[in-house]
Formats: sequence, structure tokens, C-alpha cells
Amino acid sequence: MISIIPEGFNEFVCKAGRCRHTCCQLWEIDIDDDTAAYYLHLKGPMGDKLRRNMEKNEEGWHFKLRKDRHCGMLRPDGLCEVITELGEDKLCDICMVHPRFFTYAGEFILCGTGLCCERTCEILMDGKQPLAFHEEDTDFIYSFRELLEFMGFSISEALSHFTPRPDEGNYRNLLSDLAATDPIDEAWTREMAELTKDVPAVVTAAGRYSATYDPLLFDRLYQFIFYRQLDKAETYGLEAVAEYARRSTEFIFLEAARLGDVGEQMRRWSEQIEYDTGNVDFLIQQL
Ligand code: SF4
Repeated sequence: MISIIPEGFNEFVCKAGRCRHTCCQLWEIDIDDDTAAYYLHLKGPMGDKLRRNMEKNEEGWHFKLRKDRHCGMLRPDGLCEVITELGEDKLCDICMVHPRFFTYAGEFILCGTGLCCERTCEILMDGKQPLAFHEEDTDFIYSFRELLEFMGFSISEALSHFTPRPDEGNYRNLLSDLAATDPIDEAWTREMAELTKDVPAVVTAAGRYSATYDPLLFDRLYQFIFYRQLDKAETYGLEAVAEYARRSTEFIFLEAARLGDVGEQMRRWSEQIEYDTGNVDFLIQQL
């Protein structure tokens, strides 16, 4: 197998208590069987606390969410009590690996960290060069297009870059597909309703933003979104995956045009779309 990682992502370090949008919220975090068995038999106050914060359904054990929709093991200072009291090696598999992803595409393992993570968005925004991909265990570095060629795909130069297309028909289509995805929370549903209420205003804001946006950053974003879903090219075709990445980038672009804070728009899009694989499949199938 050939492991690939975008440059800059090997240095990923979680922001822990400094993170404004901890990933220990909104999702019910599954606990693998071995770790669940360890927690269930752990003696003392930590064992009691873990068991109070776990529940089981037909799919197995997971951590319960509190009323504020944060994991019950998250401390007020943003640190995880499992790590501070028991050590990182006592985390369940998902907490150990998140936000890293490993996409298997033929003989390639495409590695990275997910955009739902604040630190990942910062890494993507901090880069001042086109996205480059490192073949692990070698010194080879590829541009996005070169990586695709190495993987046996061929795309035009134009399709390897992002170009915004702020027009009303295009935006209506895009927003209607996004509004049909399974919402992560009520705020997403409200956001979609607000966007679809006045599409011409969104187009105007995006048109204005076209004159001032950072094309390098949006190219990096487009290629990163595209890269993560390359395993789907076999099922849906490379063009469909490219169009999914382009429309996803366009959505982040239009939200940045309206609301600013491009990093937050990436993160928010990712937690709604990328972290529900059903939503990703649904959006690609629309194409
Ligand atoms: S979102 Fe990223 S930086 Fe924040 S707590 Fe999770 S892994 Fe750490």
C-alpha cells in the first residue's frame, strides 16, 4: 500500500482546551467493545463516572451527550477526563483516531485530518503554497494533478482548480440539495431556510466576494475535499467526485461571502456533510 498525506498534516496536534469548537460535542461517540469492557469493569470513582456517561443501543455502547450536547467526560476547561485521569491510551478507538481519516483507494491510503476540526482548517489556511502531497516513506512530493495521475486518473488542468460560479440557477440547485441532507442540528435547518429565502442576495454577496477572495486558499480547500473522497471515484466516476468537491467549495465560498470567517465556514460545512457519510453519498448521487 502507498500512503499519501498532504504537506503540513503530519504536524497535526489537537488544540485541546484552546479549541473553540471541541469535537467532543453533537455526536454520540461510539465506544468499541474492548474499551467498553474496560470501562464497565473499572473500579473507583472514574469507573462510576464512565458508566454514568455510557449507554447502549442496538449498535453497541456510546457516550451519552449532556443537555448542552457535549460529551459527559469533557471538563469545563475543554480537556477530556479520560485522558487527564486515565491517560490517552485508555481512550476508545474513535477518540484515539479522530480527527484523522484514512481513505482506501485501490493500492493507496489517503491520510489526513478532517475539516470538522478547527486545527485542520488552520493548517489548510496557513499554507501559502498550492496543496502538495507527500508519499510517506519516500521523498516524493506531488501536486494534486500529479497525484491523480499517479493514481491512474486523468483530469484537465481546469478541473483541478476551483472557480466560483455565482449564478442563481446554480445556487438554487446547490442549496436545495444541501437542504435535503440529514441535519446535524436545528441551526443547520434554520441556516438552509434563511439561505433559500433570498437566493439573489446570496448571489450578489458571492459576486462581490469573487473580486476579493483568496484563490489559493479556495484551490487548496477544493483539492482537499476532492482528495478525501477519491475512493468514491470507482463507484460514481471522477467527474461526479470533482463536481461534489466544487459544489462543496462553492457553498463554503458563499457562506464566507455572507458571513466572513472562512475557517469557521469550512468547519461547519464539514461537520454537517463530511461527518455523515450518508450525506456525502446523497450529494454525489445527485450528480
Ligand atoms: S476539533 Fe480538533 S483541535 Fe478541537 S478538540 Fe477536536 S481534534 Fe482537537
